[in-house]
Amino acid sequence: MNTRRFLPIAAAVAAMFCAGAVQADSTQRFVSRTPVAKHIIVLVGDGMNIEHEIAASRYLSGRALDLSFHKLPYRGFQAHWDVSAYKKRGGSYDPQAIDALIGYDPAQGGAKPYPLGPELDGAMDYHLLAATDSASASTAWSTGYKTDDGNLAWLPGDPDAGGNRSGDGSLKSITEHLREAKGYAIGVVSTVPFTHATPAGFVSHNKSRNNYGAIGTEILRVSKPEVVIGGGHPGTDGSPTYNYIAESDYLDLKNGAHAGDYVFVERAAGVDGSQSLLAAAQQAVAEGKKLFGLYGKEKDGNFESLEPQDLPDTPLVKRATTENPTYAEATVAALQVLAQDQDGFFLMAEQGDIDWANHANDYKRMVGTITDLHEGVKAVVDFIDRPGDRITWDNTLLIVTSDHSNNYMRLQKRMRAGDLPTQTANCTGSACYPGGEVSFGSTGHTNELTRIYARGRGTELLRKAEGRWYPGTRIVDNTQLFHVMMEAAGVPVEPALKLAE
Ligand SMILES: [Zn+2]
Repeated sequence: MNTRRFLPIAAAVAAMFCAGAVQADSTQRFVSRTPVAKHIIVLVGDGMNIEHEIAASRYLSGRALDLSFHKLPYRGFQAHWDVSAYKKRGGSYDPQAIDALIGYDPAQGGAKPYPLGPELDGAMDYHLLAATDSASASTAWSTGYKTDDGNLAWLPGDPDAGGNRSGDGSLKSITEHLREAKGYAIGVVSTVPFTHATPAGFVSHNKSRNNYGAIGTEILRVSKPEVVIGGGHPGTDGSPTYNYIAESDYLDLKNGAHAGDYVFVERAAGVDGSQSLLAAAQQAVAEGKKLFGLYGKEKDGNFESLEPQDLPDTPLVKRATTENPTYAEATVAALQVLAQDQDGFFLMAEQGDIDWANHANDYKRMVGTITDLHEGVKAVVDFIDRPGDRITWDNTLLIVTSDHSNNYMRLQKRMRAGDLPTQTANCTGSACYPGGEVSFGSTGHTNELTRIYARGRGTELLRKAEGRWYPGTRIVDNTQLFHVMMEAAGVPVEPALKLAE
């Protein structure tokens, strides 16, 4: 490995000239090395697996794999087990001698997720036994480490030392690496609270995902991403509930204590969230500021999910309220602000209520939430396609993926576009679907493989990663995604985890 790759170009070139032994043409060759992904965009459908994708796709078009992300040129598979799941499956976790097949065994779970591969005997029991949660899955992507359920960029076992960041047990995230090494701007977007596990794993460090107040304080006062857009609003009816943001942090945002850094925009009764967020993004661009958008409903903190209508042959998905932006609008607003940074940017944008719909075995809501993701991916592809700016497929890596599977849903009957199953209200499980169109095996996360879709600079690194942890398959481990993104950005790091010999 050429260690000079770790130096900024100017410093490396200066060092070569000082050494006095480098010809101009070799310097030239060094400078014009392979271009890197200056823009890394990770779009997450939380708790989504391929049966869910097929269900939403059929609803929208009548065809099985016809969503925006199904058209991206790279389509692979991802294993996502965490340390808690590994131990439940009987492994004793040693990060220097990992038996990846304890975490995910293709012989038991399949080399491809159903229905791309066959349903193996005993697969349901295998998949339901143990699975990751969103905090440890986010940590794997953001740091390259496996950890326990509930940990955000923190070592398993919650130690107070031994991390790679600041003398405690915390782990350096990709946003910290890329900001430090390359000056990238950082953005996180979520349709659930901004302090929820998936965004929090990229811009905070905590032994527990449930410490929403402390997580929010770290995001707002320490990490200070260039863009934060998400749920967690304390409510607009005059009796705020500070479930997902500390009262002092909210009031500081509202009263302009962070006005030097952030343009702050929030949900307001009767105000169109699409327009308020767009105006705030334009103001942030015009004034060279960061953007903080706080939306969602007060109880659960999420943007109310989109609502598909049961209209055979004429699919129609409605917004539950216009007081929130859509996932697509939030993601594009983030891109508009991040694109101002000449150095590049990293954006993670999560459609988080797919997972919530799936925990509830709520098919209708699941179709609405995946439609939201589908529209978001389409908007991002259009944004990158747009001519006349610095953002092209040559210098941008787009990844669309899911952190884990959920609920072991199986489609039992073919439905037409616009058609939804007969669904009993306020009910969980297969029994809520008396027409038998669909069945569920769980209300929790499952270990079924998720998919990775990608396009742009660095996509070939995903192909190279396939099968390294799971020989003879095309499976990529979620920790490998961290390394793919870092290498695509031109900042490769040595893996902290080692497979057993
Ligand atoms: Zn979940």
